[in-house]
Order: sequence, then structure tokens, then C-alpha cells
Amino acid sequence: MCGIAGYVGSGDAIATIVSLLLELQHRGQESAGIAVASMKMGEIYSLIGKGLVIEALNDSGLSKLYDVGRVFGGIGHVRYTTSGGYMDSQAQPVVIRDGAYTVALAFNGTIANYLQLAKEFGVREFGGDTSVLAKVLLRLARELDNDVVEALKVLPSYVVGGYSIAVLTSEPRLVVARDPHGFRPLAISLSDGGLLVSSETSALDAFGAVGWREVLPGEVISYDGHSIEFTKSPISAPISPCIFEYVYFSRPDSIFNGVSVYMARVRMGEELARVAPADGDVVIPVPDSGRAAAIGFSRASGAPLEEGIVVNKYVGRGFIAPPAIRETISKLKYGFVKSSIDGKRVILVDDSIVRGTTVKSIVSKLRSSGAREVHVRIASPPYRYPCFMGIDIASRAELLAWRAASIRDIAKSIEADSVGYNTVDGLLKSVGLPLICHACFTGLYPFKGLSVDDLEKMFIR
Ligand code: SF4
Repeated sequence: MCGIAGYVGSGDAIATIVSLLLELQHRGQESAGIAVASMKMGEIYSLIGKGLVIEALNDSGLSKLYDVGRVFGGIGHVRYTTSGGYMDSQAQPVVIRDGAYTVALAFNGTIANYLQLAKEFGVREFGGDTSVLAKVLLRLARELDNDVVEALKVLPSYVVGGYSIAVLTSEPRLVVARDPHGFRPLAISLSDGGLLVSSETSALDAFGAVGWREVLPGEVISYDGHSIEFTKSPISAPISPCIFEYVYFSRPDSIFNGVSVYMARVRMGEELARVAPADGDVVIPVPDSGRAAAIGFSRASGAPLEEGIVVNKYVGRGFIAPPAIRETISKLKYGFVKSSIDGKRVILVDDSIVRGTTVKSIVSKLRSSGAREVHVRIASPPYRYPCFMGIDIASRAELLAWRAASIRDIAKSIEADSVGYNTVDGLLKSVGLPLICHACFTGLYPFKGLSVDDLEKMFIR
């Protein structure tokens, strides 16, 4: 999972892209970057750095970008590593050149077969899937008369994985695309004679962009500052947007595939109360991603909702933190409101349990804050299979629900009085889309003939 942004128009491209990236910060906190094309043909300038947008794109770096003169537009990225390692986390946009032709690329997703692609195209694999994707795309564009649109149209026939992508070329033009499965979100807005691009609609709303729409699965959109071209890849694939975007990733004020993320989460909580009821005095959400489900659980069960946990937003999202600091984050991140907890039977509602690091620490702190009982209720089903389309789960061995023999085992391991999960049917009903990826809960990957074993062998992070 990462966030991508783009802008071409008469406004301040650098400020616009940075604003959009700030609104997408929840999608990646390891690095951030921006690339802009100057009005002089062939010149793309970039600024990348580690950390949050505010750290990576600081004033002194940005002022150098402003020095390049009149800018056509640009793209930006916030990164959460799913390939290529954490220590050498490769910030995007990646800029690559072939003679006078230059492209900058920012993408959200994972290319599961990048090692195979590196061999097939004879490119170096250093830096994980991003650099391989950029080199493959440039090679395809070169073979197709330097046409990135045509390259993006044929790209799905080479790739196993998921991607939403923004490409800035030295022509200059901005091209965006979503893979034919439509795993990851991407939206555009054509306003004030310009094109705005964002991973999530909430960033466009916050920016005040009018009339946005989501990029369709397989769609390729190209804008050269004068005319806009909408085309589609001829390669078809089962439509399978990521259900985990509704469970955890996306902001609740975003719309994905026409469905409100917030409303989907509230319905998950209502379903959860029906399929996994709990006797308790108070419903307490794990902030922030468990909050909407807790509202639904409270409404459906009649148990009162209380804010018992305060989140320290400045330490980042635990799920998308590098493994080395994930445990520290889960300890530092939460404060506990004793008056909401002391002497109560707490129903703790969270969006998911992946590795179990966070929830175990929360259960323990609820007990030390005086909870008499802690019943954990999870708005999604047990997360049992890794993702190869944009989430950093390397293997089944990392997953608590895969390792545990039963739900009772999970309760024991996180030291809760009971644990209850939503069902796959309940989750599907809450989102309400007929076609959707739920492979991390069911093991049913939308790639013909590829099982979890095949994908695990193919993809080395
Ligand atoms: S496997 Fe899970 S996280 Fe990955 S794309 Fe499918 S639903 Fe999303």
C-alpha cells in the first residue's frame, strides 16, 4: 500500500502535489517524493526523502524544485514498503532515462513476479519491484514508439500483482492507469482546466476538487495539458478490488468503487454484533480504523459506545510500520481512559488482527486500566493468507490466524476472555460489491492457475 498523487494545470503544481500527499499520508510513512516536468522538453526533476511528507519534502528541497522555472506538472508518492526491503526503502517517484526520453513513475501495489520480469527483460532487480516495473515500462514504451499509453495497455499481460500507477514523461505528459483487476484505488478530477490525481477520493475532496471520478479497472488516462485521452487495456481480468481497503487501509471519508468506506465499516460492525455477539458493559473501539465498526456494533447490540483508547497520531500507523519498530509503536501509540474502562466488561472492537502484536498489547493495557473482562470482536474474518497485491505480509507464518489452531487459541495468545470474528459472508454483505478480492481471508486469489504456494515461491520481498 502506498499513495500516489499527480497534477497538471495552471496552478502551483508543487504545492498541489504536496497538499495531496499530506492527505494521503496514512497510506505510507516511510518515504515521500515528488517529480516535476519542466516546460523545457526532456527535463524531469525530483525530490525524494525518508520519513513523513513534511520531513522528506522540506522547504529547502522544495525551493530547489521551484528554481527549475515553469513547471508542466508532476507526480508524488508516499511509500509503504511491500518489496525491496526496509533499510534501503526505495523512495518514489523513480526517474529513469533512455537517451533523451525520461519517465518518472509512482505506483501503489505489488508486482509479485518482478524477479521473473527482471530475467525476461534482462534488467537489474536491485530495489525490488518498483525499479523493475519502471524499467519494464520504459522498455515497452520504447518498443511502442515511445508511447507510455500503449505500454500501459499491454503491461497487464506481463504482470502478476496489482497496481495503480502515475507516469510523468518528458514529452511532457501525465499518464495514469489502474490494473484490469482494479485492486488499488485511484481517482481523478478535471477542474479549472487541469487534471488532479489521487489514490483516494478523500484527498480530492479535502483539496476542494470538484467532479472527481474513479479510474476504472484497466483504464489508461493521458493528459498533455491540452487534450485528454481515455483508453482501456484490451487485456481483461476478473474485477477484484481489494476488500481490505474497506477494512483498514482507506480513509473513512473516501469512496472506493462507489461505496463509502465509512458506511461499509459501520455495516461490518452491525454484522459482527449479529454473528459474534458479546456480553459486555461497554463497546470500545481501537482507534482509528476500528471506530466505525464499533459504532455499528454498538448500534446493533445496544451496548453503549465509549472512547476508552486515545491514539497518539504522531507515532504512525502500526500496521504499515517497518517490522523492527512495529512492537515499539504498538506500545507507545495508545493511551487509556481509566474512567471508561475501570470495573467494566469491555467489548473491544478492531478492524482486523494480522500479526496480533497490537491487539495483545491493548488487551493487556485494558486489564491494567481495570477492565474486568476483555472480549475482542473483529470486523473482518480471520486473516489467514498473505497478500501479493500491495500489502506487506511475507508469509503465512507471520499471520496469527494461520498459526493458531482455533479461535480459542487466538484468544489465549492475545490473553482475551473471548475473541469473535465477522464471517466472509458478513464482510461481503457489508461492502456490497458483487466482485471483490478477499484472498487474504479465503486463499482464493484472482489469478488463474496460481495458488498461494505458487505465489509465495514467485514473490521474494
Ligand atoms: S489479498 Fe486481501 S489485502 Fe490483498 S488485495 Fe486481496 S483483499 Fe486486498
